[in-house]
Amino acid sequence: MLIKGVRLYGEGDPVDILVRDGVIAEIGPWLDAASTQEITDVEVIDADGQVALPGFVDLHTHLREPGREDTETIATGSAAAALGGYTAVFAMANTDPVADNAVIVEHVWRRGREVGLVDVHPVGAVTVGLKGEKLAELGTMARSQADVRVFSDDGHCVADPLIMRRALEYTKALDGVIAQHAEEPRLTVNAQAHEGERAARLGLAGWPAAAEESIVARDCLLAKQTGARLHVCHVSTAGTVDVLRWAKERGTKVSAEVTPHHLLLTDERLATYDPVNKVNPPLRTESDVQVLREALAEGVVDCVATDHAPHAPQDKDCEWSAARPGMLGLQTALSIVVETLVRPGLLDWRGVARVMSEKPAEIAGLPDQGRPLAVGEPATLVLVDPTARWTVRGAELASIAGNTPFEGMELPGVVRTTMLRGRVTVSEGKVQS
Ligand SMILES: [Zn+2]
Repeated sequence: MLIKGVRLYGEGDPVDILVRDGVIAEIGPWLDAASTQEITDVEVIDADGQVALPGFVDLHTHLREPGREDTETIATGSAAAALGGYTAVFAMANTDPVADNAVIVEHVWRRGREVGLVDVHPVGAVTVGLKGEKLAELGTMARSQADVRVFSDDGHCVADPLIMRRALEYTKALDGVIAQHAEEPRLTVNAQAHEGERAARLGLAGWPAAAEESIVARDCLLAKQTGARLHVCHVSTAGTVDVLRWAKERGTKVSAEVTPHHLLLTDERLATYDPVNKVNPPLRTESDVQVLREALAEGVVDCVATDHAPHAPQDKDCEWSAARPGMLGLQTALSIVVETLVRPGLLDWRGVARVMSEKPAEIAGLPDQGRPLAVGEPATLVLVDPTARWTVRGAELASIAGNTPFEGMELPGVVRTTMLRGRVTVSEGKVQS
């Protein structure tokens, strides 16, 4: 396979990339497919003007299988991921049944391999049934074929500090990480939207910023005490960024992610009362959004994660208080990052590679993802047309569900090709199965 005329990380002169046996074999100007015996009859991808980046890694995906195959399956979610430029995703544990044991995580892992479009890594639940009461079989899941290293009760907070401390100690011994959905449940009973003027005006119970910040602060102290690694899911407030900065400065092993929707949308969206905008944690204020963008550019927030959350129409096209929280994210993530960070000059393409690929791979401990684009490295990469624009249509996305808050938006940045260890999974924006 010969990729012609691409710019690595969007920098320097265009080069050609020769891929052989799943590995980047050569990088150079004007490699000529016909010039050597070895690379005749090679398939050529004309990537003139495109940007090459390492394949993206999503630490936070809801694939809904097993249990809600009416909203997403491992097959449809993998297709959405590949179309979004992803080569690895972490499937959250809040399925039905919950992924709190080796049987379920191995099922998800095996199904991901059968589909083969992205590496599907199951996240193991921290507690049995996500109930927050008793630790799940973390060691058994880690030693299973699925090789689980990321544990999360996402959807729920591990609220009991003693359970959280034990979970941190246990995952430290497994060389794993606890990904916490930071939400103090006592402060968010019936919460429907960001606690503030807008929610009050609409009569919606508030989700206060302090409910997130207090758990992040507590967990940072526990991570420091135990020496374990903590990952904070979907950071949504400026105050959490302050806590992360403080914790990192004192040597806490903490990382954090931000979602594309928290980088763009605000609680102004509440005015429409459209439940497509309902998400947990909720959309915050304009000043939170600005702080999150800067924190990501600066590295206080380490990476972007989608929190891709497909929902059936009956769970979204209903009144606000009855609607489930969550939005699609896999196919729009790159474009939102381009819109909110690349275009305003906060991140260059090397920065995009850092926050969407290198950092998430490092946090999850994946050895062969997020690798540099260099000779001898796996050909796990994405080719992006940086100038093209596209219009988001929920019905046209690969997910079974269509709940995107970006419906009708025209966004910059189009994924043309995705390649997983030399295998083309997406070509000219179409899944190659
Ligand atoms: Zn969550």
